[in-house]
Amino acid sequence: MKEVITIDGPSGAGKSTLARLCAKRLGYKYLDTGALYRAVAWKVKQDNVDPDDEEALRKALADLRLTLNGDGISVNGADVTSLIRTAELGELSSRVSAKPAVRAFLFSIQREAGLKGKVVVEGRDTGTTIFPDAENKFFLDAGVEERAKRRYEELKLRDPGISVEKTIKDLQKRDLRDSTRESSPLKKTDDMIYIDTSKLSIEEVVEKIIGSLKK
Ligand code: C5P
Repeated sequence: MKEVITIDGPSGAGKSTLARLCAKRLGYKYLDTGALYRAVAWKVKQDNVDPDDEEALRKALADLRLTLNGDGISVNGADVTSLIRTAELGELSSRVSAKPAVRAFLFSIQREAGLKGKVVVEGRDTGTTIFPDAENKFFLDAGVEERAKRRYEELKLRDPGISVEKTIKDLQKRDLRDSTRESSPLKKTDDMIYIDTSKLSIEEVVEKIIGSLKK
């Protein structure tokens, strides 16, 4: 699959910023798969669904219509783009994303969005489960303190009560859950190019990604 670029990695590694920039540079589209999990979490919270009750989740998914438009995302017609970027929905999305029913529900939406090609897809399992056949796969990483610092800068704008220490704890919890769950865990495979973004500028990482693309 030549025109699909996958970028996986833990929270705060810089995936969204870099995927968006690379897509722009290449004239590709950008798919933020985390937004899909966050939108499901938003609906779960809205409807007071128990995220550990698979049957209840299955019922909630049956009534769920997710629409992607550019950088925006809607749930049953309601634009939730700016509502899903909270620490609470980050945590809840990680809990619901461990449920096979949720992953199965989002699988075809992601495949469909990518099958048209010319797309940079970013998430936790895009190179392993969603597009295992992509020709260019990357794994972005950074030390937990650096990642927490980045996340904190984003979160503090919406959530004045947040601290760096709490952000580190939340990230460690999320990293552990995302990489040890049974269903499509976050994993670096041998066919992914590993980039540690801790000490690199955004531009340097973009250059590395674009420069490593197979011709
Ligand atoms: O990347 P972001 O922080 O928005 O993702 C939110 C959560 O969604 C992650 O912690 C992860 O649990 C889940 N996720 C996933 N698979 C993906 C993308 C996100 O499990 N491909």
